[in-house]
Amino acid sequence: MRIGYGWDSHEFREGVPLKIGGVALPFSKGLFGHSDGDVLLHALTDALLGAVAAGDIGSYFPPSDPKWKGADSVIFLEEALKQVRKAGFAVANMDSTLILAEPKIGPHSAKIQAHVAELLGIKPGQVGIKAKTPEGMGTDNAAIAHVAVLLERGTGPRNRSKKKQTRSNKSKR
Ligand code: MG
Repeated sequence: MRIGYGWDSHEFREGVPLKIGGVALPFSKGLFGHSDGDVLLHALTDALLGAVAAGDIGSYFPPSDPKWKGADSVIFLEEALKQVRKAGFAVANMDSTLILAEPKIGPHSAKIQAHVAELLGIKPGQVGIKAKTPEGMGTDNAAIAHVAVLLERGTGPRNRSKKKQTRSNKSKR
């Protein structure tokens, strides 16, 4: 098994659409960033990459590269999932905490949970979405995301050969 952890933050700006966990949320401001500013998917991407010691989001998608301007953060997540599979792992579950003054995440958390689960290919019951307000932090104009992931051995080539071996050992007995 492997554990991974990721963190990200983005600043709120007027006239930017708000997207969290790949879900568009109705709000007067959005998260400004080089890509679509999806703070939750960025922290999740880093958590997955960290779990398989495969670098971080910036090493695959440098903010200096104009190619990623306004990019859908699902692209980043898909690269991280590719690295996870390549290392022979699969996502067991993830947990997250969002820290933002507004908008309230509660009314949207089920939708975010279902969407993130779909992106990861797991069930909503394996995706934790929690939110807090930044009491005393002075970060009212930012959204922060913390994500932890747990990986288990997947059905990659390495794992399959292991299973085969076990079977052939059994038949020898
Ligand atoms: Mg980011």
